[in-house]
Parts: sequence; C-alpha cells; structure tokens
Amino acid sequence: DMLKVGVNGYGTIGKRVADAVVAQPDMELVGVAKTRPNFEAERAVAKGYSLYAAIEERADQFVKADIELAGLVDELVEESDVVVDATPSGIGAENKSLYEAHDTPALYQGGEDAEMVDTSFNARANFADASGAEHVRVVSCNTTGLSRLVAPLEAEYGIEKVRATLVRRAGDPAQSGRGPVNDILPNPISLPSHHGPDVQTIFPDLAIDTLGLKVPATLMHMHSVNVSLEAEPDAEEVRELLEGESRLFVVPERFGIDGAGKLKEFALDAGRPRGDLWENCLWGESVSMEGNDLYLFQAIHQESDVVPENVDAVRAVAGTADAAESVETTNDALGIGF
Ligand code: NAD
Repeated sequence: DMLKVGVNGYGTIGKRVADAVVAQPDMELVGVAKTRPNFEAERAVAKGYSLYAAIEERADQFVKADIELAGLVDELVEESDVVVDATPSGIGAENKSLYEAHDTPALYQGGEDAEMVDTSFNARANFADASGAEHVRVVSCNTTGLSRLVAPLEAEYGIEKVRATLVRRAGDPAQSGRGPVNDILPNPISLPSHHGPDVQTIFPDLAIDTLGLKVPATLMHMHSVNVSLEAEPDAEEVRELLEGESRLFVVPERFGIDGAGKLKEFALDAGRPRGDLWENCLWGESVSMEGNDLYLFQAIHQESDVVPENVDAVRAVAGTADAAESVETTNDALGIGF
C-alpha cells in the first residue's frame, strides 16, 4: 500500500518535500496546499500536483488567476495518511487543530516550538521516537546538520562537549527583503544561541554550546565545529568514520572546492534538482585532532538538508519501515551521496 502524503505550505521547504515524496517508491502525493496563486502555484499545477486552497476565503483568487483547484486544505488533510506542514514559523502551531480534527498525523518544521510536538526528529539519531506519534517536528537545517555529525561521534567515541559557531546565511536566495546586506552580525548577541538547546531536543544529555553570526550570503550556512571527544582517535580515523555516513558528504581535497559557491556549482553540475545539497558538506582536509579535540568545517544547504528527513519522518510516523530501511529507500530514490 502506498503512503498518502499531503503537503500544507508550498514554499522553499514544501515544494522540495513534495518532489521528494513523488520520487519515493512507497509514497503518493495527495496534493499540496497554498495560500495564494503565484509562480509556485503555477509550477505545482504544471507538474500535475493537485492544488488545494489553504485559506477558504482566498480560494477565489486561484479561480481568478485561472489556476485549477482540487479543493480546500481540509480535504487534503482528510485524504492524507500523513501531512507535512511546511508553513512559515508559528503557522504550523495554528494548523495543529486542523490535523487533529481529521485525526491525521502531522510533521512540522524547525520553526515551530519543540513543546508543541510529541517528539523532535532526526533520522540518524532518533527515528524510532516518532513511531506512532501524532505530532513530530523535523528539526531545523542547522540542528539537522549538527545532529548528523554528533550521532556517529557520540556512538563511536563519546562526547565531552560540542562547541559550534554557526555562520548563518542572511536569507534564502528568493528572500530579497532579508539582510544584512553589508554587515557581520553576532546573532544572537547574548550567548549561547538557541541552536544548542535545539540540538538537545534530539540529544537530551549532550553538552553543547553554540554561537551564531549572520552574514550577507544566501547560499549555505557554515559551521565551525569543535567536539571534545572522550577518546583520542587520529584525524584519519575520524574522517573515515564520517565518510561512512550516508548523509555526510566529506568533500575530497582533489575537488578543489573552497567554499559554498563552488559547492553549489558542483551540485548544479551534478544535475541536482534546484542545485540542492541534501547532505552535510564537510571538508575532509579540515578534519583535525588536537589531543581529544576534533575540529572541522561543514556547510549546510538550508533549503534542502531537511527534505530527506521529512521523507523518513513520514515512514517513522506511519510505522512502515525502520530507520535503516527508510534512510536507504530515501537515499536511493533521491540519489543522495556523490
Ligand atoms: P516559505 O516562506 O518559503 O514557505 C512557506 C509557505 O507557506 C509559503 O508559500 C506561504 O505562502 C505558505 N503559507 C503561509 N501561511 C500558510 C497557511 N496558513 N497555510 C498554508 N500555507 C501557508 O518558508 P520555508 O523557508 O519553506 O519555511 C517553512 C518552515 O520550514 C519554517 O518552519 C522554517 O523555519 C522551516 N525551515 C526553513 C528552512 C529554510 O532555510 N528555508 C530550513 C529548515 C527549516
């Protein structure tokens, strides 16, 4: 039986999740819900996706724009086995009662509060926690990136403490109103940043401090990471451990990739849809050990790293696969790994 998935909120994350669902052998996209007719609505219909109006009072806008509607969001939720809510931060919480009214389990995104869900989710770290849950939060792009890195290190060596500085992109490429345009902002200025506690929603016992900055860039986030391990492996061993993780792309030195710009160019050259990089992109040369201190740089494609995690969370909630099966299916269907 195919899992029926609906996507409510068709923006940066929602449209990518919809495409990823369509690519899965065991899933069917019921449709997507949008608030207004724009280019993304046009493309959704052009791809053959059923489009539902997210706000009843605005449904006539689609009719006026000559965009065919399949119905209202209530119908989408009713027909879905699982709904992926990819609406802007805070709207997911407002939609919770809609999903409850139809008894449809829902996935929310990292912009929502951890308190509103049964569990936060990362496929590598806590897949099984979402089994049978009604409300699951797929953690943010940065938290996903840190969790994928922490999981194997914790399992293999044990972790004393993580310290990470997150150099964050100002906005996504289409977010033309975001900034700074010409500045470097400690953000937030008061320490630590909220990212550490967010990682603790996945690893409750992890010692982690994070600092954030915001810079005039749109391509990716960059993490400067220090992990004090409970062991003293050499750098080569750690690099090999990380290379064995399917959602960590350890960028080889021979590629000559010196930053986010070339990473994105590489993704486009490789034919990735929208130039997406679903994996953490971690520089192999940067993996260094000083005593028990591991240092490295990783870049995180904010628009796409949570996409395979949403796909896995659908199976986790529905109980149709275990973590290893789901991750393998998702990776194969999307073409994850270089
Ligand atoms: P977005 O603004 O690109 O897309 C959100 C979409 O939802 C828009 O199309 C908007 O019109 C629509 N929408 C607004 N109100 C709605 C409603 N009531 N019902 C249905 N649709 C509605 O936002 P995004 O970047 O895709 O972010 C969505 C969520 O994903 C947020 O929680 C965000 O924090 C999280 N997230 C974003 C990123 C990122 O970098 N863009 C990364 C990871 C997680």
